Amino acid sequence: MAVIGGGAAGFFAALSAKKHAPESHVTIFEKSNKLLAKVKVSGGGRCNVTHACFQNGVLTKFYPRGDKQLRKAFDQFSTQDTVNWFENRGVALKTEADSRMFPISDDSQTIIDCLIAESKRLGVKISLSSPVLKIEKQESVFRLSFKSNTDFFDKVVVATGGSPKEEGFNWLKALGHTIIPPVPSLFTFNMPKESIKTLMGLSVPNASVRVQGTKLVQSGPLLITHWGMSGPAVLKTSAWGARVLNDINYRFIIHINWLGQLKEAGLRSILEETINSFGKRMLRNYNPFEIPQRLWEYLLDKVDLPLEKLWSELGKKGVNKLLNLLLNDQYAVSGKTTFKEEFVTCGGVSLSEVDFKTMESRVCPGLYFAGEVLDIDGVTGGFNFQAAWTTGYIAGKASE
Ligand SMILES: Cc1cc2nc3c(=O)[nH]c(=O)nc-3n(C[C@H](O)[C@H](O)[C@H](O)COP(=O)(O)OP(=O)(O)OC[C@H]3O[C@@H](n4cnc5c(N)ncnc54)[C@H](O)[C@@H]3O)c2cc1C
Repeated sequence: MAVIGGGAAGFFAALSAKKHAPESHVTIFEKSNKLLAKVKVSGGGRCNVTHACFQNGVLTKFYPRGDKQLRKAFDQFSTQDTVNWFENRGVALKTEADSRMFPISDDSQTIIDCLIAESKRLGVKISLSSPVLKIEKQESVFRLSFKSNTDFFDKVVVATGGSPKEEGFNWLKALGHTIIPPVPSLFTFNMPKESIKTLMGLSVPNASVRVQGTKLVQSGPLLITHWGMSGPAVLKTSAWGARVLNDINYRFIIHINWLGQLKEAGLRSILEETINSFGKRMLRNYNPFEIPQRLWEYLLDKVDLPLEKLWSELGKKGVNKLLNLLLNDQYAVSGKTTFKEEFVTCGGVSLSEVDFKTMESRVCPGLYFAGEVLDIDGVTGGFNFQAAWTTGYIAGKASE
């Protein structure tokens, strides 16, 4: 069996194939001279292996693309299976406050060492600097073309990762597969014309971001950066809106609720209570929200509310200004910056052409897919690796 691609999904496919059929011959062909390069740089060098979410129905909600198909796949290999798999091989994982899971060493090399040691133990062959240039199906076997030779295999797992360009998938198209055009996911918003950038480094713990003219709304921590906005609320919006935001060339208006899910009635009563209890305090000196002081002053200034004004002097007009500002503040986005921590592409091999019980192609039997080459992607937090482990495990198991 040939596994094309020495990344997370390719390794898991090869290891699973050897586990389920120890006598089989399994070779990983990797085009570069490095194995598991993305694992190495992942999670800021710590590798966010998976997410501590142990209910498959909940887990799938973190995948803008592939959620339905992964539901079945996670029944075969879940986040708990990932944790057990690494722990059984001496790599304990820890869970951080936001449920992301890392090796306790805080070093992605631990994960690489574990995968490579396991491949040696099980006898997986590895061929570096071996780009597969073409796959042809000849009756029941596959002919793989390399730089200077060809070779034949009965089964092939394609685990070549994402490609930013559609042409990168031409060799899979040639086998009859439909490719969903790739576009970036997980990016931050550029706001060249917005002065809020001067507050770079400030964050709010829970804001909602809505994209005008779409159904996109996401909540979570929001970070102001020197080029615009980032943080989970923005990254999630970019992932769920990957295609629609690409269609509008990354130019749009966002509406921010600085108070997360708080609605008008709830905010009105907080404002009334503040006026009643703290009426003699200046707006500047009493900020009843979880908003950093410098941002609070910036926002007051934005709607021309004097910082020295007393809460008791706010009046109906002032209350309405604050309501609108806090619940529906607006910024113009123009352009994006790829989030360096966890860049993924949306798009790839169409999921309708893959049987998720086995990861086998429906249009080219004997060919299996695993990992980011598929039109699957998750938000940040370990979900992309989990999809790679799961689909790799199933492809390897089924292909023997
Ligand atoms: C900087 C960064 C940080 C990230 N951090 C995280 C994180 O902490 N947690 C998380 O869940 N996700 C993270 N991700 C996403 C995650 O790395 C990917 O989703 C995951 O690596 C996909 O695994 P894969 O095996 O499908 O593809 P890849 O890791 O891309 O591996 C594919 C391999 O196939 C090889 N290949 C391609 N074409 C050929 C060919 N024709 N012949 C032979 N070999 C070929 C490539 O060289 C590559 O080694 C991060 C991504 C980036 C870029």
